[in-house]
Order: sequence, then structure tokens, then C-alpha cells
Amino acid sequence: MKIDVVSIFPEYLQPLNLSLVGKAIENGIVDLGVHDLRQWTHDRHRTVDDTPYGGGAGMVMKPEPWGEALDDLAPVGADPDDSTAASGSRPRLLIMTPAGRPFTQRIADELADADHLIVACGRYEGIDARVAEDAATRMQVDEISIGDYVLNGGEAAALVIIEAVVRLLPGVIGNPESLAEESHAAGQDGLLEYPLYTKPQSWRGLDVPDILFSGHHAKIAGWRREQAEALTRRRRPDLLPEISDPPSGPGALHI
Ligand code: SAM
Repeated sequence: MKIDVVSIFPEYLQPLNLSLVGKAIENGIVDLGVHDLRQWTHDRHRTVDDTPYGGGAGMVMKPEPWGEALDDLAPVGADPDDSTAASGSRPRLLIMTPAGRPFTQRIADELADADHLIVACGRYEGIDARVAEDAATRMQVDEISIGDYVLNGGEAAALVIIEAVVRLLPGVIGNPESLAEESHAAGQDGLLEYPLYTKPQSWRGLDVPDILFSGHHAKIAGWRREQAEALTRRRRPDLLPEISDPPSGPGALHI
């Protein structure tokens, strides 16, 4: 997979060279390019922002550097109606914005099928809206939020999304089964993961549940399922659409 990130703080993306994403880059599973948006400016001050039309606080990122960056990074002639899109062959532009579609594991799964992601990191009040509109004429554009809060820039969001996507690529995680059993994984009915335990069996007066030593795989699976359902009901009832009334009373706020 090719991933290009455009930012005015390219150093912010350095952590991508660490750990499993770093290894995926080293192994050639990911071809990462981190680009300074200012390389597509032409004035002495390398200006990327200007005042908002219509007034208001803050500055807006100018469309011209973004337009030139995307012209350079996306293959010329890429067609948004290209029938090969399903195979992931056309580039996808991900614009980081708190006003975007909330990022989920389902979106990460979908992005993991793409061949080329371009991640646009905004700063200031965000990017001139025409950049997304113009890019949509030649590539798939998604405006994505990593949560209902506002960061100073899109770089931290880009780190989150890239890590969530890259760990899904074949060869990145040693045992692919661990991906299937995780919280939010497609086959888990929306459940959060059950509680995990390792050695020692007893620690600070707290014992690992006996069932996990039974050697009875079906019973262990049943217990884990119950635990996952209880945890999800307690912490994230929104993930269980069939539950209309979240539990109240003592323990309701226990997370
Ligand atoms: N004026 C924008 C608004 O009210 O929606 C907020 C701009 S924010 C200060 C600057 C940049 O940070 C955004 O352009 C975006 O790239 C990034 N950003 C901030 N919060 C984000 C979030 N929750 N998810 C993704 N990107 C975010």
C-alpha cells in the first residue's frame, strides 16, 4: 500500500517509523511518503493560509498549495467512476476534520483494501472547502474525524488512522487471528473484547477466574462471550442496538 501524508509539520509523522508500522515500511508492505505542504507554495514566505471570506476568527488553508500537492501525488487521469475502484486501484484522499465521518474499525477495514491513500492534515481553521470538491473529480474523497473533539491539527488523526489501517495489512501482525477476535472486529457482533489475564495466577490478592484453567474450550468461549456482552452493555451500550435502556442504579457508571 502506498500512503502519502501532507502536512505543514512533517516531523509530526516521525512515529510512523517506529514499531509495527515502521517494520511494515522496512519490509516494503507500506510505501510511506511524508510531504511538507509548503513545498507547493511559490511566495517568499511559503504561505499556506489566509483570512476567511465572510469574516470570522482564525485562518483558512489556501486551496492552491493543496491543489498542486494533490495533482502531484495522485496519478494523472485517475477517474472517480473507474470500474476498477472496487479493487482499490484508485487513490483515496482522506481529509482530517472534526466535521468528518467518525472513524471506525469498519472504515479501517475498508481503507485496508485501498492501494493508495493520501492523508491531508489540516491546521488553523481547516482547509478551503474547494480542495475536497476539486479532488472529488478525480479520486474518492473522505472527510474523516477521529472523534468528537477538536485537535490543533490533523497529524495526530493521521497517525491514528494510518496505524489502524496498516495493522490490518497482510504480514503486519504476526498472528492474523488476533485481528479477528478484537474489540470492534467485524465478526464480533459489535462486542468489546472480554477481560484478559496472564501469569501469575494470583497477583495482589486478585485471582484469575477458575474457568480459564478448566481446559474446557467451549465453556471458556461461553464465559468470554458473557463477559464481552456484560462489558459492552456497561461501557458501550450504543454498540448493542437491541439494548434500548442502558442499566441504571449502582454500578451503572462503573467502567
Ligand atoms: N474549524 C474546524 C472545525 O470547527 O471543525 C476545526 C479546525 S482544527 C483546529 C484544525 C485541524 O485539525 C483540522 O483541519 C483537522 O485537520 C484537524 N482536526 C482537529 N480535530 C480533528 C478530529 N477530531 N479529527 C480529525 N482531524 C481533526
